[in-house]
Amino acid sequence: MSGLTKSELLRRLEVAGVRPSKALGQNFLIDANVAQRIAKLASGAGGRRYIEVGPGAGALTVALAPMAEAVLAIEADRYVIPILFDVLAQREISNVRVLHQDVMDFSWCNELDQGESYCLCANLPYNIAATLIVRILEEVPSIDRLVVMVQDEVGRRIASDPGTRQYSGVSAKVAYWATTKIAFSVSPSVFFPQPNVESVVIDVTRRAVAPISEATYGLFSDIVKAGFSRRRQMLRRSLAGIADIGILDSVGIEPSLRAERLSYLDFLKIAEALVESDRGRE
Ligand code: SAM
Repeated sequence: MSGLTKSELLRRLEVAGVRPSKALGQNFLIDANVAQRIAKLASGAGGRRYIEVGPGAGALTVALAPMAEAVLAIEADRYVIPILFDVLAQREISNVRVLHQDVMDFSWCNELDQGESYCLCANLPYNIAATLIVRILEEVPSIDRLVVMVQDEVGRRIASDPGTRQYSGVSAKVAYWATTKIAFSVSPSVFFPQPNVESVVIDVTRRAVAPISEATYGLFSDIVKAGFSRRRQMLRRSLAGIADIGILDSVGIEPSLRAERLSYLDFLKIAEALVESDRGRE
């Protein structure tokens, strides 16, 4: 199966009169080896179902489809979809279903088969990558793995550990749901147009989390948000109004620490202690 080369992409964009859109984060992959590497990493035991967000002209889709039982490709740009159909038809690929849709408005429960598990594999548009990854982990349990290319800075932030410079609210939230590995780095030279920054491919695997109530998860999110929105402040200040010193003491967390030192389990302990203390007051 031949990959999408730079000359084929440029020719097809020109014929269709499509200019890459910055707003849609359109940096198209023009290196078939990189596409193959991503698809191989995503392919698990074989015969799996994949979701690709933003297939564009199909550089990654043509690598993924032969390894898949089925691919659901969700693309927001109606102008690139005819190119994608053409690329797939020319390669006689028939297991890709293309939906013209903004993924941020996508109705996951209506479109995904209940009881199936999916891997999301994509070269994600940079402006929605972090938000989408967190949303999928929170709201779409049937997606149990994400193998995605993102900006280097975003990937490192998502995969970072407590106490590191990149550790943030997104890191803590993703860590609650999943384990993340940085698989490999990708140079700007393999995209058209070339972005200004490096990219990385990350491998996010959903973990089996102990069920907690929506209220506890809501508190966990609020605490993470409050802690990192004032990351230079000690917890006793940044969490004032949510969790007092008594709560922090009760779970053995030093109020003079900053949020960047806490693991997702620490944030969870604070949320659970708050729920318990509310119960005690009822
Ligand atoms: N997969 C292609 C490749 O690797 O060459 C294109 C990747 S490009 C970085 C991102 C793609 O996501 C573009 O095709 C863009 O139109 C699409 N896109 C951007 N925002 C989107 C959204 N909200 N929903 C669905 N697709 C989106």
